[in-house]
Amino acid sequence: MNESKRTEWDVVVVGGGPGGALAAKKCAEAGLATLVLEKRQMPRDKCCTGMVMAEWGQEIVQREFGDYPDWVEDKTIYLAGYALHIPDAETRTLNINTPTTWRHTLDTWMCECAQKAGAEVWDRARLVDLSQEGSSCLLEIKLEDSSIELSADFVIGADGSHSVVRQLIWPEFKPLMRHGYRVCFETQVDLAADRFNMFPSGLTDIFFVHQKGDETYLEGVAADGKLDETIEEARAYLVQNHGLDPDIEPAWRDGCAVQLASPALWSGDFRPAKDNILLIGDAGGANAPISGEGLAMALKTGVDAASAIVESKQGKHSAQETYLHHIDHIISVFGEISRDGACMLTALESGDADRFSQAMMASWDRSLNAFHGDID
Ligand SMILES: Cc1cc2nc3c(=O)[nH]c(=O)nc-3n(C[C@H](O)[C@H](O)[C@H](O)COP(=O)(O)OP(=O)(O)OC[C@H]3O[C@@H](n4cnc5c(N)ncnc54)[C@H](O)[C@@H]3O)c2cc1C
Repeated sequence: MNESKRTEWDVVVVGGGPGGALAAKKCAEAGLATLVLEKRQMPRDKCCTGMVMAEWGQEIVQREFGDYPDWVEDKTIYLAGYALHIPDAETRTLNINTPTTWRHTLDTWMCECAQKAGAEVWDRARLVDLSQEGSSCLLEIKLEDSSIELSADFVIGADGSHSVVRQLIWPEFKPLMRHGYRVCFETQVDLAADRFNMFPSGLTDIFFVHQKGDETYLEGVAADGKLDETIEEARAYLVQNHGLDPDIEPAWRDGCAVQLASPALWSGDFRPAKDNILLIGDAGGANAPISGEGLAMALKTGVDAASAIVESKQGKHSAQETYLHHIDHIISVFGEISRDGACMLTALESGDADRFSQAMMASWDRSLNAFHGDID
C-alpha cells in the first residue's frame, strides 16, 4: 500500500480492522487528511468467525460500503442463525440470517474503500509510542526497516483487544484478557451446517462450532495457561457427542488476545476518549457482553468517532465530549446485558439447565438486537 512522505495528519487511525477502516473512510470523506497504520501486511487474516452478526451491523456495512464485491461474496457463507446446545435442556435456536465472511477479504475490502475515499493506508507500520503535546498527538511508528515520527490533530485507536494506544494513554486500565482460538478440522460433524452452534457449560466456559463446506471450525476463549486443555476438552466433547473423527488432527489452528467485556466501562471508571485520542471497537472495550459481537460494534463506534472529530474540526464541541456522548447509550446497554449474566448464574447454580438455556438465548438475542433502529 502507498506511503507518502507526509508527516502531519489531521487524523491517524491505528489499526486496519473494520472499525479503523470505516472511521478512516468517514474522516477522509469529510476532507480530512487521514492515515491508517496497520502493523501487519495486508491482506491479513484475523482470528474471528467473520459473522456480521447483528442486522443493524449488516445495515451499516450496506450503507457505508455497499454490496460485497465478488471476491468477498464468493468466500462468504450465509448461516440461518444460532443453536444453543446444553445437556439436559432442549436445543434452542435463534433465526438471524448471518453473512459469515473471511476477515482477510472483508477487512481488505473495507481498507480499500477507505483508500478510495482518500485515506492513506500504510501496512507493516506499527505504532510504538504516542503522547500528547498541547493540542497535537505525536506518534512513533516502526516501519519494516526504519522508524518515523508523525503528528496528528486526532488519533483513533482501532488497534484491537491488545491496543497499544490504550496501554500508552490509559496505563491504569487493566482489562481481563483471555486467549481466543480457532481450530480447523477438514471433516464434518453431525450438527446443522447452517447454524453457529454454541456449547456453554458455564458463563465463560463456552465453545462454538460451525461448518464451512467440508471443514469444521472449533472456536472459543481460554484462560491463561489453559489453552491446550480447553481445546482438548471441547474436541473430546465433539468426538463423544457429535461424531468428530477421534483420529483427525487439526489442519491448522490460530489464536489472538481477547479482552472480555469490562465492568469498568459501564461503571464509568474507564472512559474510552481522552482529549483528541478516541478508542473504538475492541480497543475501547466495545465488545458486546454475552454474544461477544464485536465487528458491528467496531463499525458503529468507528462512525461515532469520525463524526465527533468532524464536528470538532468544524469548531463545535470537543471530540472527546461528543464521542463519549454518542457512545454512552452503547455503554449503558452493555451494563444492562451484563446483568443478564446474574440471571444465568442463578439458573446455573440451581442446576436448572433449561432455565439457564432460556436465559442465555434471551440475552444473546438482546445483545444482537440492542441497537435496532439506532443507526443514524
Ligand atoms: C475466535 C473469535 C471469533 C470471533 N467471531 C466474531 C464474529 O463472528 N462476529 C463478530 O462480530 N465478532 C467476532 N469476534 C470479535 C471480533 O473479531 C472483534 O470484535 C473485531 O475484530 C473488532 O474489530 P476492530 O476493528 O476493533 O479490531 P481488529 O479487527 O482486531 O483490528 C485491529 C487491527 O489493529 C492492528 N494493530 C494492532 N496493534 C497495532 C499497532 N501497534 N500498530 C498498528 N496496527 C496495530 C491489528 O493488526 C489489527 O489489524 C470474534 C473474536 C474471536 C477471538
